[in-house]
Amino acid sequence: MSLQVTEVDKQVYHNHLENFLPDAIVDVHTHIWLKEFRLPLVEGTRGPVWPRRVAEENTIENLLDTYALMFPGKKVTPLIFGWPERDVDLERTNLYTSTVAKQYGLPALMVTTPRWSASELEEQVTRGGFIGLKPYVDQAPSHIAAQDITIYDYLPHHHLRVADTHGWIVMLHIPRPARLKDKVNLQHLLEIETLYPNIKLIVAHIGRAYCEEDVGEAFTVLRASKHLFFDFSANTNAYVIEQALRTVGPQRIVFGSDLPIVRMRMRRICEDGRYINLVPPGLYGDLREDPHMREVSAAEGRRFTFFLYEQLLAFRRAAEACNLQAADIADVFCNNGVRLIATVERR
Ligand SMILES: [Zn+2]
Repeated sequence: MSLQVTEVDKQVYHNHLENFLPDAIVDVHTHIWLKEFRLPLVEGTRGPVWPRRVAEENTIENLLDTYALMFPGKKVTPLIFGWPERDVDLERTNLYTSTVAKQYGLPALMVTTPRWSASELEEQVTRGGFIGLKPYVDQAPSHIAAQDITIYDYLPHHHLRVADTHGWIVMLHIPRPARLKDKVNLQHLLEIETLYPNIKLIVAHIGRAYCEEDVGEAFTVLRASKHLFFDFSANTNAYVIEQALRTVGPQRIVFGSDLPIVRMRMRRICEDGRYINLVPPGLYGDLREDPHMREVSAAEGRRFTFFLYEQLLAFRRAAEACNLQAADIADVFCNNGVRLIATVERR
C-alpha cells in the first residue's frame, strides 16, 4: 500500500484541519485484516460493494502509517476490529486483531456471528482481551434478504445480555434500505438502550444517514434516547452531523474514521436521496455496475482529497453551525472515546 499525499491534501490539512483537531485523537472505528484471510465469496455480500475497492487488506502497520501521513503531528489511538463480512475468515481476522491489540497496547472489538451461544461469545471475547462487539449486518442468517434484516438477526438478545452484564462497547452498523429513518431500526435502538442500559452502544456512521433524505423523523424520535452514542465515520454530510449534534450533544458524538475505506480519494454527492462517491478516473477499477461510484474527469479528480478529510471538513462545518467550543471538539475527537474505553477496561 502506498498512500500518496498531494499538495491539495496538504493544503486541506494545513488550512482547515490541523489547528481544528486536538493533538490527541481517539478513532473508535477502524478495520484491520490481512488479504490471506479472504475466503472465496460463495454468495454476494449484503453490504455495499465499493469499500473493498479501496484496500484489499489493512495491516496494523498500514493503519498506523496512515495516521502518520494523514494526521502529521497528532497522536491517534485506534479502537481496532477485523473485517466483518462473510468472505473473510472470522476466526483469523479476530485472532489477528487480538494479537496485534496486545502487541501494540490498543483496545479492540470482536467481530461476531449470531451463531455463537452466549457462553461461546463470553468465552471468546474474554480470552481475546476484547472490550466489546462488532456485529455486522452481513452476518445475519443467509436466508434473510438484505432488505428484511433487523438488528436482532445479527445482534441477538443472548449476545446483548452478555454485553450488558460486562458493560461492553457494541459498534453497531444498522440494517435496512431506509437507514436511520427506518421505524424498525429506531424502535430497536431505543429498545436496546432500555433493556440493556450497561451497553455502550455506538451507532456507526450516524445510522448510515449519508443524505438528508435518510433522516426523516429520526432525530425527533432519538431525542428520547439517553445513552446512545453516534460515530460519524464515513459520513460527509454536514447537515446530518449538525442534526446529530443538536439532538444528543457533543458528549455523545464520537470520532470514528472507518479506515481504511476513508483513504479513498473522492467527493460525495447526493442525487435523488442516494449517495454517490465521485472519484478520479482509473483508481478504483470498473465502476459501471456500482450505483454508488462515479468517475469524473482527470482534471476534476486532481482537486479531490481523502474521504477522511471530507468527513472532517463536514464535521467542522456542523460544529461551527452549532457553535461548538474547543472543549467540545476535544470531547468528540478524544475524551468521549477515552471515557468509553476506560469504563470497560476498569470493570
Ligand atoms: Zn466500518
